[in-house]
Amino acid sequence: MTTQANDTLAHFIGGKHVATTGSRTGDVYNPATGEVQRKVSFASVDEVDAAVATAKRAAQEWRNSSLAARTRILFAYREMANRRKDEIARLLTLEHGKVLSDAQGEVQRGLEVIEFACGLAQLLKGELSENVSTDVDSWSMRQPLGVVAGITPFNFPAMVPMWMYPLAIACGNSFVLKPSERDPSVTNLCAELFKEAGLPDGVLNVVHGDKVAVDRLIEHPDVAALSFVGSTPIARYIYEGGAKHGKRVQALGGAKNHMVVLPDADMDLAADAAVGAGFGSAGERCMAISVLVCVGSAADKLLPRIKERMAVLKVGNGLDPASQMGPLITKQHRDRVAGFVDAGEKEGAKVLVDGRALKVPGHEQGFFLGPCLLDEVQPGMSVYREEIFGPVLSVVRSKSYDEAMALIQQHAYGNGTAIFTNDGGAARKFQHDVPVGMVGVNVPIPVPMAYYSFGGWKQSLFGDLHIYGPDGVRFYTRNKVVIGRWPDPRFRGVDLGFPQNK
Ligand code: NAD
Repeated sequence: MTTQANDTLAHFIGGKHVATTGSRTGDVYNPATGEVQRKVSFASVDEVDAAVATAKRAAQEWRNSSLAARTRILFAYREMANRRKDEIARLLTLEHGKVLSDAQGEVQRGLEVIEFACGLAQLLKGELSENVSTDVDSWSMRQPLGVVAGITPFNFPAMVPMWMYPLAIACGNSFVLKPSERDPSVTNLCAELFKEAGLPDGVLNVVHGDKVAVDRLIEHPDVAALSFVGSTPIARYIYEGGAKHGKRVQALGGAKNHMVVLPDADMDLAADAAVGAGFGSAGERCMAISVLVCVGSAADKLLPRIKERMAVLKVGNGLDPASQMGPLITKQHRDRVAGFVDAGEKEGAKVLVDGRALKVPGHEQGFFLGPCLLDEVQPGMSVYREEIFGPVLSVVRSKSYDEAMALIQQHAYGNGTAIFTNDGGAARKFQHDVPVGMVGVNVPIPVPMAYYSFGGWKQSLFGDLHIYGPDGVRFYTRNKVVIGRWPDPRFRGVDLGFPQNK
């Protein structure tokens, strides 16, 4: 791995590992054991400036590279990352904690964005209109922005950066990535692979760090755009700060995803989905189901099935193939999530399944929390209002479809949602009415394919465009329109009138 002599993860700037010159570092844990595995450098303002300057120089040549050359490099990167995907996944599990099969799934979804970016020649086509006026043609082209920066969260350390840099680079930009400081190693590995695939030095740079690095990226005059994924308060901060400094910004925030179950649903399917989407990756997914809205008699049929499935869930070290759910990212986060369960109980929710006392033998210092199921949750409770980001599923009982819909409409977040029913009319009404960016019909985690775009509504996204897919191409390029004619002696002579089409 790309560490300095003292096992401190270095930055990756201009195709080289650059040891930090400062003394600020962060601890990178193995959440399954609770041990610090290595340190990560925290960039200073000067180090961020060096990365941006390198990216700016590289962008000048990269924007002139042919589409064919770019495609070949992206294709080679896809092949290389695909060959090494198990290594990427293992590194990810060691620092994030999620189980290996889940980590492999994450890498696979990231690879799909690289595959989409391989179609850049098609994606970057402009338009042409012949004879907009007599002998005058007009055409449009999409051009890169220059240096783009990405700031990413801990929960998908491989996939979320891959939502950004492959497409930004395919569009002819250079990129400076500031990954999460909690599980940063995987980004260095991916950047090394991209270099090996032929990416010119400086087109993709990684600076590690905290608020100091992020603040410098927000204000740096040579950074044209910011892609952010993380929590809502920071998303709002990035959006406002970026806009103040004249940047294009897309900032994806937190979530509180409701799954509505109507009484006619296939209850076994719904129970499998609720447990999978509620507790997969220990609930640390922005598309996790955290609220189960049971309409009418649905709760009586569904909850026993959910409890049955929760009783046999295996929580343990993500590297153990028997584990289905790993630890949380830090001890502090584990305690915060457990605190939400305490608060819910105090406020009157019934704890049907309590994972707070769980200990994993041999991993007593790991950041584990067992899955928790809370019934009779009310909209005023903190467990309902706030994003918990852990293995806690809250059940809200509602009398009708309309009451269930009103809950979602009134919630501050609008990332993902799902309805479980066998009534096509109800499902169609739901998808039409619901103010949420990504909707599942009998599908609990409706993450769009790489050739659509990903994004929530309301407090789950600040900005106009969603991430990756066609919106990603629009975000990472700007449009230019040209009107041209070849001189013709018939059209000579001064005309001060506004140009009209003849
Ligand atoms: P976070 O907001 O704490 O951190 C995200 C990034 O912002 C990190 O790189 C971090 O270093 C940086 N950051 C943190 N505090 C900062 C500050 N004060 N100033 C400047 N930069 C700062 O998020 P996280 O805990 O890493 O990730 C979990 C969150 O991300 C959850 O809220 C989750 O819902 C959200 N998320 C959203 C999506 C989505 O697509 N909407 C996807 C994944 C995760």
